[in-house]
Amino acid sequence: MKRALILVDLQNDFMPTGVLPVPCGDEVIPLANILQAYFECIIATQDWHPNDHGSFAANHPGLLPGDRIELSGLSQILWPIHCVQGTMGADFVKSLKMDRVTKIFQKGSDSTIDSYSAFFDNAHRKSTGLDDYLMTQQIRILYIMGLALDYCVKYTVLDACQLGFKTYLIQDACRGVNLNKEDSAVAIQEMQRAGAHIIQSADVFRKFILIS
Ligand SMILES: [Zn+2]
Repeated sequence: MKRALILVDLQNDFMPTGVLPVPCGDEVIPLANILQAYFECIIATQDWHPNDHGSFAANHPGLLPGDRIELSGLSQILWPIHCVQGTMGADFVKSLKMDRVTKIFQKGSDSTIDSYSAFFDNAHRKSTGLDDYLMTQQIRILYIMGLALDYCVKYTVLDACQLGFKTYLIQDACRGVNLNKEDSAVAIQEMQRAGAHIIQSADVFRKFILIS
């Protein structure tokens, strides 16, 4: 069965110097570059918001990042303005190798709803097309890594499991936001309960041969 590596949201705004920093998020970039050499199909996801996105606290006068609102009928945590389409913050990190990335999937471009998962918006109303793409490529096994473990990585993994993919989370190649300090640990448990296999990058290096 064919497999793919999914790199979740390795973008400037999520780096320690960005506007929505994931602590130590920069540490996963070298691993992303090494892991790519073990895969033929590499997917990169990109958080890609319009200026007026409903998840930005700045678009809700009087509210601050961290506050919660209801957005499209869902509980939504508010974030600083981040990953605005066409800005440097939304670009992939410069040191991330992109020459072997097979395809990029963007998410979060509908201002009325957030989209943590690489597959669907948070209400599962619209698909990003990733599922169909993987289907046409006959890929049924996914190795997932990136940022942030407790948001976009987690929801990507949960959807992958639900869609029937054999799903591996590469734990040491992820970092969490941890608004609450236990969020990453809880996220790992949730992913395991959904059927995901939690592995380390060394397991990939042992299991597969270098492609390039
Ligand atoms: Zn976002």
